Amino acid sequence: MIATHLHNDTVVNVAQLLKARVGAVRTVTVHLDDLALDQDLEARNLEAGLKFTRIASGILVSGEVTVTSPQVCARCLTEFEGTYVESFEAEYWPSIDVFTGLPLPEPTDDEIFVIDENHQLDLREILRQVAILAQPIRPVCGPDCPGFQSLLPDSEDIADARLAVLQALLDDRAD
Ligand SMILES: [Zn+2]
Repeated sequence: MIATHLHNDTVVNVAQLLKARVGAVRTVTVHLDDLALDQDLEARNLEAGLKFTRIASGILVSGEVTVTSPQVCARCLTEFEGTYVESFEAEYWPSIDVFTGLPLPEPTDDEIFVIDENHQLDLREILRQVAILAQPIRPVCGPDCPGFQSLLPDSEDIADARLAVLQALLDDRAD
């Protein structure tokens, strides 16, 4: 099995794998020091352990991404660095036939990625998407979180709900 390691790079030439029989596998590991996830969101030390499998339509990329990113604890508001793991699977289709050089139809499903005309498969966008998915909705700094806000769970929500009821009453009277 061919193994490839990418360091601060996301592009793999897959011409050989596209020429291989369906079911052929290649392993790819990636390390990125930094990856911009969004305008103000950055991930560090992204590690990906991936399997590229030749499928009839192209290449199936599957595996696991581990990523570290700055977080603010949802309970105590402490800033910390969290490390998260996310698995994924994505299909890549060739844009030209590797044997004939003829153009192939573009995928109509926008979840399918395209391999460029030089048979270069770029992992950057899928790694960015998976790293965003890996981000917790409510990050917690750790088992030692003082969590003083957790003593009053959703107290703000309750207060908002009460205010809403009060506001509705006041509105009724105004009518
Ligand atoms: Zn905390």
